[in-house]
Amino acid sequence: MKNNYHTHSTFCDGKEPIDLFVQRASQLHYNQLGFSSHAPVPFENDFGIHEEAIPEYTATIHALQSQYPDLQLFCGLECDFIPGMTKPFSYFKNTFHLDYIIGGVHLVRQPHSDHIWFIDGSKREIYDFGLAEYFGGDVRKAVTTFWEQSFEMIETQQFDIIAHFDKIKMHNQKRFFTEEEDWYTKLADHCIELIRQKHLIVEINTRGIYKGRCPDYYPSDYLLKQVAHYHIPVVVSTDAHKSEELALGRDEAIEHLKSLGINYLMYIHNHQWEEYPII
Ligand SMILES: [Zn+2]
Ligand SMILES: [Zn+2]
Repeated sequence: MKNNYHTHSTFCDGKEPIDLFVQRASQLHYNQLGFSSHAPVPFENDFGIHEEAIPEYTATIHALQSQYPDLQLFCGLECDFIPGMTKPFSYFKNTFHLDYIIGGVHLVRQPHSDHIWFIDGSKREIYDFGLAEYFGGDVRKAVTTFWEQSFEMIETQQFDIIAHFDKIKMHNQKRFFTEEEDWYTKLADHCIELIRQKHLIVEINTRGIYKGRCPDYYPSDYLLKQVAHYHIPVVVSTDAHKSEELALGRDEAIEHLKSLGINYLMYIHNHQWEEYPII
């Protein structure tokens, strides 16, 4: 089984059209390929799909399916949760008959205001600006807000896979906090607890490594060890934005999971997530 469910095309901030990813997956003898455009958010942005474009997005994927009988294609969205701002994930799933939803936090809302701290993207200055401007440079407050927003997403939204759930570390680069600090591990541990309660799938996301933005996978080994310990279901995601990124880091990630005692991955079988052994 070769698969990837976290893929961005030109319908959102990906750099290539859907058919190039499908071609590439077919060349690589993938069995399953899922698309996960960034869902619409209620303000101007250059990364999300427009809601009016979603029917064309799903139709494009469905139309390609007939040309690739050996490759199963799936339509999903990577939905952002911003408290009080974003539409419920179930709205997108039900309205557009999607196969799955990936839930993630890229945009952290400053409490009691409309200011948004963008923690993702290639520019570390934007991270640093939000930290200084919206949280007065109080990294503990800012990072806690990120985790609490993640907790609220897990508790209130319906989704399948939690995206890169410790992405908050990406632009930190060990400058403002370390992942060993007690307050940080408490928050991360609580996230694992909620993931278990909601039976979510965790992705091991390779993008930080192949883009050179982060030396570790999302999530870090400290969390992957808990994923192994509690038998939390896992998928490998390359979070590809170009077709050449489709398999980047995948084999290494699988070897890494095995070294931590994770021997199963998830795939879609008859509209359900099921596990299969890593060979
Ligand atoms: Zn993401
Ligand atoms: Zn993504």
